[in-house]
Amino acid sequence: MLFADLKLSPLILRALEIEGYEVATPIQAQAIPHVLAGKDVLGSAQTGTGKTAAFALPILNKIAEKAASPTDGRRRPSALILCPTRELAAQIGAGFKAYGREVKARYSVIFGGVSQGIQIDSLRSGVDVIIATPGRLLDLMNQGQVDLSYIQTLVLDEADRMLDMGFIHDIKRIIAKLPTKKQTLMFSATMPNEIKRLADNLLKHPVTVSV
Ligand code: AMP
Repeated sequence: MLFADLKLSPLILRALEIEGYEVATPIQAQAIPHVLAGKDVLGSAQTGTGKTAAFALPILNKIAEKAASPTDGRRRPSALILCPTRELAAQIGAGFKAYGREVKARYSVIFGGVSQGIQIDSLRSGVDVIIATPGRLLDLMNQGQVDLSYIQTLVLDEADRMLDMGFIHDIKRIIAKLPTKKQTLMFSATMPNEIKRLADNLLKHPVTVSV
């Protein structure tokens, strides 16, 4: 399937053209129409399948639509992406930078092991998207540095790895602070029972896509 056949903003199609991407990968072709339709999605996909764009493009599309009809002009984070490692957070950030270049979406990448100052400044400057590892995000939330009350889309990326790394309690504490009405997307390379149970708890009538 060509990206041009997916109902994406011209601003996003232009960014994809600059990247040299024309054909959606299977996870993108399967997931993007459902994500655009506002459905919860459970995606079974490994890294390298193009799953970042599968969630980033619909999130950016929503931001592009909002920018076209501004309300009070203030940027508040409308999407939260939780992932297990700083490397993955940085990689997802690079995806938002590339795919969001024409939308001019702003994002913060939040992870532990480095000083908090730059991350706090970045959050204060106003962002559309937060990409975070759970522990550091929770720290900043407990300090009152993050307002998640406008989140419309939650992504759990590499959910199986986050569980393996013991992030489940942090994730639950974070989710407790999000609006109940939101879209949730969960991606996992493997689907053990623990992941299925988490999906049952978090996702509403999800569409399952598998590559
Ligand atoms: P991911 O699985 O999201 O980490 O993506 C794997 C790699 O594929 C990244 O380097 C992406 O930039 C690239 N990629 C993602 N979607 C496409 C596409 N539709 N066409 C070509 N390359 C892509």
